[in-house]
Amino acid sequence: MPTKLKKSVPHRTYLDESELPRDWYNIQADLPTPMPPFLHPTTHAPVTVDDLCGIFARPIAEQELTKERFIEIPDEVRALYKTFRPSPLHRAYNLEKAIGTPARIYYKFESNNPSGSHKLNSAVAQVHFNKAAGVRRITTETGGGQWGSALAIASKMAGLDCTVYMVKVSYEQKPYRRILMETYGGQVVASPSNTTEAGRKMLAAHPDSLGSLGGAISEAVEDALTHPETTRYALGSVLNHVLLHQTIIGLEAKKQMEKIDEYPDVVIGCCGGGSNFSGLAHPFLMDRLREGRQVRAVTIEPMACPSLTRGKYAYDFGDLSHFTPLMPMYTLGHMFEPPGIHAGGLRYHGVAPILAHLFHEGIVECEAVFQRDVFDAAVLFAQNEVILPAPESAHAILGAINEAKRCAQTGEEKVILFSLSGCGYFDMSAYKSYLSGDMKNYAITDELLASGLNSVSDIPIS
Ligand SMILES: *Cc1c(COP(=O)(O)O)cnc(C)c1O
Repeated sequence: MPTKLKKSVPHRTYLDESELPRDWYNIQADLPTPMPPFLHPTTHAPVTVDDLCGIFARPIAEQELTKERFIEIPDEVRALYKTFRPSPLHRAYNLEKAIGTPARIYYKFESNNPSGSHKLNSAVAQVHFNKAAGVRRITTETGGGQWGSALAIASKMAGLDCTVYMVKVSYEQKPYRRILMETYGGQVVASPSNTTEAGRKMLAAHPDSLGSLGGAISEAVEDALTHPETTRYALGSVLNHVLLHQTIIGLEAKKQMEKIDEYPDVVIGCCGGGSNFSGLAHPFLMDRLREGRQVRAVTIEPMACPSLTRGKYAYDFGDLSHFTPLMPMYTLGHMFEPPGIHAGGLRYHGVAPILAHLFHEGIVECEAVFQRDVFDAAVLFAQNEVILPAPESAHAILGAINEAKRCAQTGEEKVILFSLSGCGYFDMSAYKSYLSGDMKNYAITDELLASGLNSVSDIPIS
């Protein structure tokens, strides 16, 4: 059978610096039904900008609640973006060949910066707005280590101090991550720690705890709340303003696909809190919501932490100590402690409220996958596309490969676009475990699921 010539485009499509988008896109302006509000953690009234200002700098709190469609990217932030953006759009010719698919696979590569992931997109924005509001120190948590690295780098660029509570399992698996953060001037604390009340409580209950993102968030928020003169907290995913900043990914990707006269049938990204997926998908979903354009959006989550596919749509806290607002999300419960999979960035009990809403409305789809399949995909990708993917990103690769394999069966020439959110240079212990054949496939038990869901609030989402 003669092979049909596929559409030929450059291996990489770039944008000129001058083509860097000038606004972020806020999908809240185009939701077909309004998003349920965040609720105050104790009064349960819808949160206001003033409520959020205890934890966040005011401009961030305002961005969190705005419904405006486009938010201008300040010149200072665009100038910092230009040190690592626009990021390239790759055509995965070699991967397509390796799996024998008629589909055309594209990926947006977000690891052209030393933090190794997309997270710097929001970090430089958050640091900018904090500095403008007079904040001098920023606290945060980190799971895989990418967000902590991004915030440490962004803080150093702006001359702010930065304290990172790093989930203990990652702290131990990824010593070089800690050193990277310290190189950029960050102070790194393993969580649970005994430097906060929240940490001491967790240690008292579980002395051997591997930690969790929810626990590390509690420590970082407590640190900010106890230093109100100088310090605010910053979150690397989940919240509306973080997803907003990440839309730079999809806005660039749209311009790049326009240049090569392509448009995706399906957009895919892995799901931790939802920021890289949403960042890529929202600008395309804008076309679907406003113009009825046909584009699917699929997010991929680990079987070990399946917030969307097995969680409950309910109000829940973002952290263990109930400092955050109650957020409407698909959640496994803020007390849920997932198994120690290698994709540390995907070990969060909930998802972004916007993503939860889009999933609930049937606008976004989700697939849960096993860790070893993810690493099969990671290694296939590395050996064909040369880039070494982060374990988190490899979830999206697997999603794209599965989609492309279905095309191989049906003969459909779909255009698949996925988010390659980061690279895996600090994840060699994960690759080692895979290559030595001792990597486990974790799925959560009904018992573990039930114990997590016990901690979810019963306030109805209306
Ligand atoms: C943090 C991280 C993720 C998960 O976070 P999202 O908010 O869901 O994007 C995915 N990939 C990489 C490389 C990360 O660092």
